[in-house]
Amino acid sequence: MITMLLGPPGSGKGTTANVICKNHKLFSLSTGDLLRERVKQTDGFGKHIANLMSTGELISDDIINQLVKEIVESDKIKTEYNGILFDGYPRTVQQAQFLKKLLADNNQKVNYVLLFNVDDDFIVKRIVARRIDRKTGNIYNLITNPPPENADLDLYQRPDDKEETILHRLDVYKKQTTPLIDFYKESDIIYEVDASQPVEKMIEIAEKILER
Ligand code: ADP
Repeated sequence: MITMLLGPPGSGKGTTANVICKNHKLFSLSTGDLLRERVKQTDGFGKHIANLMSTGELISDDIINQLVKEIVESDKIKTEYNGILFDGYPRTVQQAQFLKKLLADNNQKVNYVLLFNVDDDFIVKRIVARRIDRKTGNIYNLITNPPPENADLDLYQRPDDKEETILHRLDVYKKQTTPLIDFYKESDIIYEVDASQPVEKMIEIAEKILER
């Protein structure tokens, strides 16, 4: 099963992805997470990526497509998982076209696209309160989903989760990623989720869609 989460930054894609992947034994393919991992190597390439990410600009299609190709074609994914859940990829029409061909070459296709809809104001408020636990990767929100008290956590805030950068990321999403909505509408696999709801509710709705 190939599922894709499409939606603006801070719409709850990552949190939902974690749960859906566990429930369905899907491989969680978050290009943002892959890039954050790569940035830990502080060579020239790592620094180049870190710079773009901190401003909210996209990394070039060729780099991202290559990263994704290696994973989609790896034996581990084919044998150990029931499919892939894409989070934050594709983000441009060029990436979507590349993915379509890559999946077709591997006898697969996208089965579900969950489109997370939410207002900009809501997103900004949600993202500035987002914190991530370094140890587990769990995503918390200081207001809506606070971390458990007394837990042994190592929380951090993503460098691109500052208000100025968020506004630019929203702009990039509108210009470069929303054209994908029409791209997937054509094949009738797109399902809308109201992403202003609490995360548990979004997960419940997502699960119902995946039963169809
Ligand atoms: P969010 O959905 O909250 O913006 P991500 O973790 O998906 O967060 O992405 C963080 C940053 O990583 C993006 O702003 C961009 O710089 C880079 N990035 C992630 N995925 C892609 C992609 N598919 N194409 C280009 N750049 C990407």
